[in-house]
Amino acid sequence: MVDYTQTDIKYLAGVGPKKAEILNKEINVYSVEDLLYYFPYKYIDRSRIYYIHEIDGNMPYIQLKGRITAFETFGEGRKRRLVAHFSDGTGFIDLVWFQGAKFIEDKYRVGFPYIIFGKPTIFGDKFNIAHPDIDPYINEEERPTGLMPYYNTTEKMKNHYLNSKAIQKIMMAAFSSAVRNITETLPEGVLSEGRLMDLKQALRNVHFPENTALLREAQFRLKFEELFYIQLNILRYTAERKSKLKGFVFAKVGDYLNSFYEKNLPFPLTGAQKRIIKEIRADMATGEQMNRLLQGDVGSGKTLVALMLMLITLDNGFQAAMMAPTEILATQHYYTIVEMLEGLNVNVELLTGSTRKKDRERIHQGLLTGEVHILIGTHALIEDTVQFSNLGLVVIDEQHRFGVAQRAKLWTKNTNPPHILVMTATPIPRTLAMTVYGDLDVSVIDELPPGRKPIQTIHQYDKKRGTLYASIHKQLQEGRQVYIVYPLIEESEKLDLKNLEEGFIHIQEAFPEYTVCKVHGKMKPKEKDEEMQRFVRNEAQIMVATTVIEVGVNVPNASVMVIESAQRFGLSQLHQLRGRVGRGADQSYCILVTPYELSADTRKRIDIMVESNDGFEIAEADLKLRGPGDLEGTQQSGIPFNLRIADLVRDSDILKKAREVAEKIIEKDPELSKLENKILQQQLRRLGGNRYNWGLIS
Ligand code: ADP
Ligand code: MG
Repeated sequence: MVDYTQTDIKYLAGVGPKKAEILNKEINVYSVEDLLYYFPYKYIDRSRIYYIHEIDGNMPYIQLKGRITAFETFGEGRKRRLVAHFSDGTGFIDLVWFQGAKFIEDKYRVGFPYIIFGKPTIFGDKFNIAHPDIDPYINEEERPTGLMPYYNTTEKMKNHYLNSKAIQKIMMAAFSSAVRNITETLPEGVLSEGRLMDLKQALRNVHFPENTALLREAQFRLKFEELFYIQLNILRYTAERKSKLKGFVFAKVGDYLNSFYEKNLPFPLTGAQKRIIKEIRADMATGEQMNRLLQGDVGSGKTLVALMLMLITLDNGFQAAMMAPTEILATQHYYTIVEMLEGLNVNVELLTGSTRKKDRERIHQGLLTGEVHILIGTHALIEDTVQFSNLGLVVIDEQHRFGVAQRAKLWTKNTNPPHILVMTATPIPRTLAMTVYGDLDVSVIDELPPGRKPIQTIHQYDKKRGTLYASIHKQLQEGRQVYIVYPLIEESEKLDLKNLEEGFIHIQEAFPEYTVCKVHGKMKPKEKDEEMQRFVRNEAQIMVATTVIEVGVNVPNASVMVIESAQRFGLSQLHQLRGRVGRGADQSYCILVTPYELSADTRKRIDIMVESNDGFEIAEADLKLRGPGDLEGTQQSGIPFNLRIADLVRDSDILKKAREVAEKIIEKDPELSKLENKILQQQLRRLGGNRYNWGLIS
């Protein structure tokens, strides 16, 4: 029998090769099955018609019934817009089009009854609806009612007549062609335990919901399944690791740590640092291999913790390695650590992409003989050519995208896998941690070193350069240093670079008595590093940079962080950048520069930054502000794949339940080899093959 779910979408009624190509490229939909898993992002209840006088500022999509009283055109050329004045007897609202004016004017008639459908927004002191859906009002019986699904579409799709309505039509064709072939993807036991709707019903009701109750049930089932398979994969892999891998036992503390503690410790440890070191020491002594995530807000002193754990590693006769995501950061760690270990006879080396061949060979040699105690570097240090004599601990700093596949590479560096500590400043909400770092234990540094003054965050409009420069000037005069950061967005790298270069020249002119340095992603690592070092040594007082400085850089004398076009940054990125200042005893400032016109969401983001210094609060707010399935959002928050339907904030209860069910299964059948679990094996293989990149999930 032909499996219709695998049919190429180009054969569906109403699609054809041209549209199929658009669907392939734009939303990654190739087969009928792919399409069936392209879920609506919202539903609108079309049973209710609103009155214009009811409209207020905070409405979602609504329906109105009334007549167009007149058309009017404003502006010229590309700025041209068409406005239709619309009334229902209770008030007036403007319908606005920025494109396709001619088509609209020809199609819709003044005085004829229409159902309007759209989202009212306030413009000046009036409401309007931009690009509404318009249907002729025929009579009550024929009007579409019930829940209407809405599908995300891109500009390109719309240009090829693939708007949400069109997708809905194609979906109907897809569903009826495939319905007989939709086979269940969860075992009977899971369905009954989770009280889940079967797959066919769920797909039907998620696309064509008969009512709200059935829609909820369908969504629940599909969300559950999505989260369940992710958890199952994590748990399966964790069980395997635990059964196969033995960990080194670090039983003692010796001279390295003791003499560091007595002679070199630059300041007393915070309570949180002490607690974490104890916790991790215990973990490294159990005989199981450690996989731990250390979370601590920017500036909480993770580097020192890492260093002390590396010294314990040396005390037990092993080597340690520390890996940073960028060359700048690796270099900085190297200098910090060398300085902290002065006089202690610890041999530390730096290995990055730009280490010279001769040095590289010397380091490789030293690692093999055991002469090199601590190796610091970028991902260059997990390359196959780098072999250790006895690697015991790997610290991975500031890295989100370091999943199973990469960690597995580290395991081959010794007979037993080394202990692994992943450090991150991005506070990860619980639900996210469970998903992205499902098999890691978590430690949290929840205390900053004493004497830090909270950073003051100020929102400033870009028209007010004078005020901005005056405050920068004041800080410079007091001997402080300043960062000025420009956004970097991949698609328009050229443009951003132009912004940065212009900014650089401009800043040099505005502050002639100070030295300005510059760092961006297009520079060679060596140049970058030299510029960075000039700033570290205070030979330059102002650093103009793109976000390459986002992670980890530590210059305690820098007290001002200016973020240009702050509206283009996500919340967690803003928080990371802000964390570059406030590291010394001086009052520090973060200045968010934006244009005057901002969307409501952006304004909210800026407000949160101004009000809060708490990384966890910001991370939660961040997840809430972003809707589900926001590609950029998920990438930033560290999920290496896109969830189709589940939302990690809103669906945390479903996630817990799914994890419980997955746990029970793995407990009884860790390798999923029982007959009843065959379907799970198959499904994991299929999902790993096309939907998710399991290698990136911990
Ligand atoms: P992060 O956790 O962001 O990596 P760092 O390890 O770079 O933070 O530490 C930030 C700054 O705080 C550094 O200048 C470091 O020397 C300092 N620091 C770390 N621990 C303490 C402490 N216990 N007391 C005072 N300052 C500390
Ligand atoms: Mg750090």
